[in-house]
Parts: sequence; C-alpha cells; structure tokens
Amino acid sequence: MTAASTAITNVRVFDGQQVSEPRTVVVEGALIASATTATTTVDGQGGTLLPGLIDAHVHLIDRADLAKGADTGVTTMLDMASHLERLAHLHGLPDLPDFRSAGIPASAAGGMQTTRMGFPLSSIVSGPADAERFVTERLAEGSDYIKIIVEDPHIMGTAALDAGTIAALVASAHAHHQRVFAHVTTVPAVQMATNAGVDVLTHAPIDAPLDDALVAQIKAQGIISVPTLVMMRSVAALALPTHRPGSDFGHALASVRALHHAGVPVLAGTDASSTPNSPFRIAHGTALHEELELFVSAGLSPTEALQSATIRCADLLDLSDRGAIIPGRRADLVLVTGDPTADIRATRAIQGVWIAGTRVR
Ligand SMILES: [Zn+2]
Repeated sequence: MTAASTAITNVRVFDGQQVSEPRTVVVEGALIASATTATTTVDGQGGTLLPGLIDAHVHLIDRADLAKGADTGVTTMLDMASHLERLAHLHGLPDLPDFRSAGIPASAAGGMQTTRMGFPLSSIVSGPADAERFVTERLAEGSDYIKIIVEDPHIMGTAALDAGTIAALVASAHAHHQRVFAHVTTVPAVQMATNAGVDVLTHAPIDAPLDDALVAQIKAQGIISVPTLVMMRSVAALALPTHRPGSDFGHALASVRALHHAGVPVLAGTDASSTPNSPFRIAHGTALHEELELFVSAGLSPTEALQSATIRCADLLDLSDRGAIIPGRRADLVLVTGDPTADIRATRAIQGVWIAGTRVR
C-alpha cells in the first residue's frame, strides 16, 4: 500500500461494459489499483462509479471552461479549434480535465472561421498546394490533430474548401500521422469529407438525413462520427448562411440512428464553447449529460451512450490509458447516485469526481 491511496467502497462499478454488484475500487496515485484496502476510505453509499466522461468536441478559451468540466464529471476534453498559445499553461494541472487540441482549423477565404470566429488568416488554405504549409504550421504549434471546415460549395461558393484542397489536407495530415476531424453540417459536406478520407465526421447534418449509400461508405471507410446533437438542435433553430432554409434537427437524429445501426462508432461531443463569437452558448460539462440523453433518444441504449463518452472514445481516439475502471488505467472517476445504465439521466446526480486520482468534487 502506498502512502496516498483511497478506497471507494460500496459502489456498483461500470467498468466500461457493464455494472457490477457493490464492491470497492482503490486509487493509488493517479491510477486505479488492484488492491482492496487503502489509507483513506470514501463510502460510495451504493451509487455507481463511472469512468470519467470524455467530451470529444469542445472549444476551450480559459481555465473556467475546464473547471466546469471537472465539476460535472467531464475529465477529458478534445478541443476542436482554439488558440493554442492561450491554453498551454493549463496542461497537466492536477484539478483540471486533461485536454487535446486541434489548434487553428483549416478553412476557405471568406468562411465564418476568419470572418466571424476570430481565427487568423493562416487558417485559410488557398488550394491543394497550400495544404502541406497549413499542416506543418499546426504541428509546429503543437496541434494534436488536424481540423478541416468542410462546407457545401453550392451554398458557400468560394467560401467553401474545394474537394481537391480537402483531399490534399487529408493526405498531408496522414503523411504526418495526424488524425483528421472534419466539420460537416450538411449532407454534401459529409459526402465531400468522406470522399476525401477524413477520420472523424463531427456534427450531424440538419439539411437532410444521410442516405443508406453514404452511411455504408462511412462504415466501409472506418470513419467515426461525433454528431454534437446538443449543438445541432440549436443550429437547426437558427437561419445560418451555411444552410438553406428548412433545416430540421430530426434529420440529425435520423442520421445518428442510421450510423449507429450500421455499426459506425458514434462518440459523445457537445461543441461546448464560451467564446462570445460563437452563434450559440453550449455549456461546458452539463451539455455532455444532455448529449448522452439525446443519444438514447436516437436509439443507443444507456450503456452504449455511456460507452460513447468513456471506453469507446478512449480506445478509438488514442486515449486508451483511461475510459474504463480497470487496474492500471487513469483514475478518472465519476460517482453518481442511481444506475445510468438503467436511466441515463442518472449521470447528472454527481456525488464525486476524481481526475488522475485527485478528488476535484
Ligand atoms: Zn466546434
């Protein structure tokens, strides 16, 4: 037994697959241990211990964004466009979620990212010959993956990246062993991004549901979906220049149902952001619990919804040191009252949160 260890007793444990009978989980240092006794004890009072939740689509500005995650059981955040230099001092702090970041996203001249969202002109990729410049700049800045804004060129004209440029960005990112996340909110954008061979489609279209052929293509190419339903519900309610009139959140729900049914991994992400330039305010932390509830309404079981924010996300997105309550994994933990595999809303009844073994709530 080490000097600092904690036994969380009388908890049912969602290990990433199923919920156990009440037992004890011991944390030693930053990791889950195989021991059964410890120097301090926390009575779990018959609640359920979950792996810390992972939000696979946020935008980070400052410490307060991360603190909201810690307070709501979100222990890892994947930022999908931010100013990296403002976040560097927030890595590795013991009471805040761990995070990764895309840095600046690739977009076309005249797109919303530079005209409205405040990203610098180096965000603009002028054509296929400019793709390698964009990717190497991001790697030099410390981006953990590459984000590409893919819009429907029939609506956005030259303010949308063309197919050749998207393909060149994917080729360059893959040559540097970087995963590519594509922002896609229309079916034509999903088709373009899929044809270009991106790794993750983030957002779910609201202009129409994905048809069977496109779902089959996404499945065949091994692409992951992070649909951000909580954001798309807000987007569908507003007239945006990126969309024709008639957008419907029901299309996004239908697409998630179809993707999940086809076996495409669907991971939980919210698009949470506190930036004043964003058209919406999706709250860090609490929005992830809402996303899990929307996944259940789209046809995932509560267990599948939990997996989408824990073990499945961890294993698919290079976070396999966490996401499950197994000895040796990071002690990112959420203690809740009730059983979220029976009623997903139980994830909101939080009694305790640990990040890498440090209790933060
Ligand atoms: Zn986003």
